[in-house]
Amino acid sequence: MHSHETPARTHDRQRPAPVARAAERDADSPGPRSPGSLQGTLGNTAVTRMITVSRMMSEDEFKQSTKRFGAKRNASEIGRVDEALRAFYALPDGGQVARLYALKDIVAACEAYVAHKSGEGDRVDGVERLNNQAREAQSALDAEAVFHGLLAEIDRMVAGGEDPDMDRRLPAGEAQKASQRMSGPVFTTVMDGFIDRLRALRGDAGLPDETRAVIGELMAVVDLVTVKQYPRGGMPGMKLTTAAGEDPAFTFNVDTQARGGSSFMLGHVAHELTHVAAHQAFGSSPVMELVRSGATVAEVAALAEERKQVLAGLRQDLGEGDGFSEFQQRMLEEKLGYGGQSGKLKKYADSFAAAGKITPEQQAQLVAWDAAAGSASGTLIEYDTVINQMLVYLHLWETDQDHPFYVRLRAAARGAFDRRSQAREATAQAGDTP
Ligand SMILES: [Zn+2]
Repeated sequence: MHSHETPARTHDRQRPAPVARAAERDADSPGPRSPGSLQGTLGNTAVTRMITVSRMMSEDEFKQSTKRFGAKRNASEIGRVDEALRAFYALPDGGQVARLYALKDIVAACEAYVAHKSGEGDRVDGVERLNNQAREAQSALDAEAVFHGLLAEIDRMVAGGEDPDMDRRLPAGEAQKASQRMSGPVFTTVMDGFIDRLRALRGDAGLPDETRAVIGELMAVVDLVTVKQYPRGGMPGMKLTTAAGEDPAFTFNVDTQARGGSSFMLGHVAHELTHVAAHQAFGSSPVMELVRSGATVAEVAALAEERKQVLAGLRQDLGEGDGFSEFQQRMLEEKLGYGGQSGKLKKYADSFAAAGKITPEQQAQLVAWDAAAGSASGTLIEYDTVINQMLVYLHLWETDQDHPFYVRLRAAARGAFDRRSQAREATAQAGDTP
């Protein structure tokens, strides 16, 4: 429940207008975000890297620049900076993640030194110079290689039952920073890669039929997503960018703070494509409510209640998290919470109406549906989405398919899939009738 709110507040100052912000959707993860100011500035990364690294002083140069007569280095704080610098130069070639971490260690050691000296002393200038060089060298690393390397690292942690959120080197935050440094075309290519990987899961022999059907449905709408980008001053999520009557097109503002590594990214892609698939199936408004166009208030009340019960059942099956690591349990709990928040549909309806993206009539209908759903309003925006997202998680985590949570999730996914299919057929038939 907190996951949707935190980034919005973090970004309040950076956004052009509250209306535009409110008309966006979906933050899949908590945590601070910074604007994409670095994006697109590194056209020639390889050349920049060579220059920057050669510009970073060697250990001997650093010792010269921070030499003090009669002072022992090893015994003092400066020795830690020496050590961090030595560790960096001892790294073999390549290994962008190792270099990133080593450079971060240099920065941390420099800052600790300056803080220790309260910013004064003979050596501070030299230390500050090294600090700046290490920061420059960080931003000159190959962003794509860093991103993929960090995800591989997080994947190893998740597979080993470790909690990547607890890693003080902040791999997910670093992955997000690396993604900000990618040029637009590279970012799109990397995200297309995740879509391809999701598509390719259908070839897994062990993939449940429900998941295979869902992925097939999602792949059918991929081409409607015309932009995949780092969120620019807004929240991650899927946004309809066309007006009524035009061919639909969507922009995917990708959440690259990949807390769970590859499973997070593929789950995120599945979640956001589900918004598109459901929007098309249900004939929804730009709010992308998960309700068939023209449904009655009574139908919506029953639908929300049914979904609420499923989420409650899933929560029960999750229990104390047997069969999952702590991290996995937390990811699932977040999704279950995200799928059911009260007042959510009304909030969206009001902000979309204020932005002129829906008519007053549409707003009135959505507000009435929100009231009918009561505390389960969130299921009218996020239900099919989190169900499909968790399907992808469990497959990639290789969760036991007999786990009660998995069994119930598959049944829920089948139910939601059937509902979308029926709505799609009804819409198509209505379109065929002259
Ligand atoms: Zn969503």
